[in-house]
Amino acid sequence: MTGLRIGVVGGSIAGCAMAIAGARAGADVTVHERSDGALQDRGFGIVIPPPLHQELVASGYLGADMPTTPVAARVWLARAPGRRTARELARQQAPVAACNWGLLWRALRSNIGDSTYHRGRPVGSVVRTASGGALIRTADGEREYDIVVGADGHRSVTRELIAPEVRPVPAGYLVWRGTIPASALRDHPEQLALLESAWVTLGFPGGHGVFYLIPGTEPGSRLLAYAIYAPPPASMPAPGAGAPVSAAYVRHIAGEHFPAEWADIVARGEHTSQALHPVADFVVPRAAEPPFLLAGDAASVTRPHTASGAVKALQDALCLERSLRASSSAAEALHRYAEERSAEGARLVGLGRRLGRELVENTPDWPTMGPAEVDALSRAALNGADSYLYGSVQRQ
Ligand SMILES: Cc1cc2nc3c(=O)[nH]c(=O)nc-3n(C[C@H](O)[C@H](O)[C@H](O)COP(=O)(O)OP(=O)(O)OC[C@H]3O[C@@H](n4cnc5c(N)ncnc54)[C@H](O)[C@@H]3O)c2cc1C
Repeated sequence: MTGLRIGVVGGSIAGCAMAIAGARAGADVTVHERSDGALQDRGFGIVIPPPLHQELVASGYLGADMPTTPVAARVWLARAPGRRTARELARQQAPVAACNWGLLWRALRSNIGDSTYHRGRPVGSVVRTASGGALIRTADGEREYDIVVGADGHRSVTRELIAPEVRPVPAGYLVWRGTIPASALRDHPEQLALLESAWVTLGFPGGHGVFYLIPGTEPGSRLLAYAIYAPPPASMPAPGAGAPVSAAYVRHIAGEHFPAEWADIVARGEHTSQALHPVADFVVPRAAEPPFLLAGDAASVTRPHTASGAVKALQDALCLERSLRASSSAAEALHRYAEERSAEGARLVGLGRRLGRELVENTPDWPTMGPAEVDALSRAALNGADSYLYGSVQRQ
């Protein structure tokens, strides 16, 4: 295929990765991003599988200089019964490459090559043309493409066109995510040493938290990233002056249920970012319908327990590149893409729901558990599915 024109709606993780994929396959790519500035302000922690990271570096999607904080193990903790100290429940081999979302976006953005990236250009609508292509309409006018990639996130205008019936399904619980400078752990050298070799899952009644180190934006710096899953508060304690409500509730949960050192870490005031999200998921029945293709969160959102939204967006891009290279028409490439990626979105949504059921909706009696119980819980949630977060459990 020569002279293929690809328009991408959204220039975040999925949009930039899809632009790289299209350009590598020889297409002329234009990205239309609504936001005017750099997207690093959304910088939270995310993890990806180390083999995917290596593949993206080897194939030119990511520079080798993008920092990650790789760790090989996963440690499960809870409060010791009747005590305020931590008890290690289990240790699994589950290597992850932890990334700073903003640095990942920047690394992808800097690799889009000759593709055009328009920022501050919200796409008002996308429409089919009689010739089998599609128009992208912005305030500046309209432009025709052979393929339009919807990489415009969970409220995608592109998805509204091809799967208008799809609506998010709320999980009924919330996730608080935040980052704290690793320097704030100076009073907790034992916890810092643990986080330098492992990512941590901390169970408590009604939910769990996940903690891991990520690179900071200053060269050589690190942040502690966390995500805490819990039901919404029945009665929220009054937040301190100027403190976000979510911070007060996280501190409340931590004070009630975390081992003392971890409660102290979460109570720190030095947060560099913090956000509260209701957990929800959805998946489109088919990830492409020529000339439209959906990628990343526009195609499906899984509950974050799978740590797979950005992973899926990156794999979507690798699949688009393969599909374009193996096909003799845009429609054929999009059919190949849909065959592979539709099933993956559905698989991850199913996995996220099972993990949510085991880890939040029906939390086990964490303090009484040991390695055998944690492995059994992990296997029940996986139900035969693959997840890089459960490496050694899957190999048993
Ligand atoms: C608590 C939590 C933890 C997570 N942890 C992980 C993890 O460990 N590993 C992992 O892989 N994933 C993780 N994720 C998921 C991951 O962050 C997302 O899946 C990923 O960032 C989605 O990227 P995206 O590009 O598809 O969507 P977005 O980042 O939402 O980007 C959509 C883009 O489209 C633009 N846009 C929207 N509408 C328009 C329009 N009309 N015109 C032009 N532009 C438009 C927006 O401005 C935005 O830039 C986590 C998510 C949460 C909530």
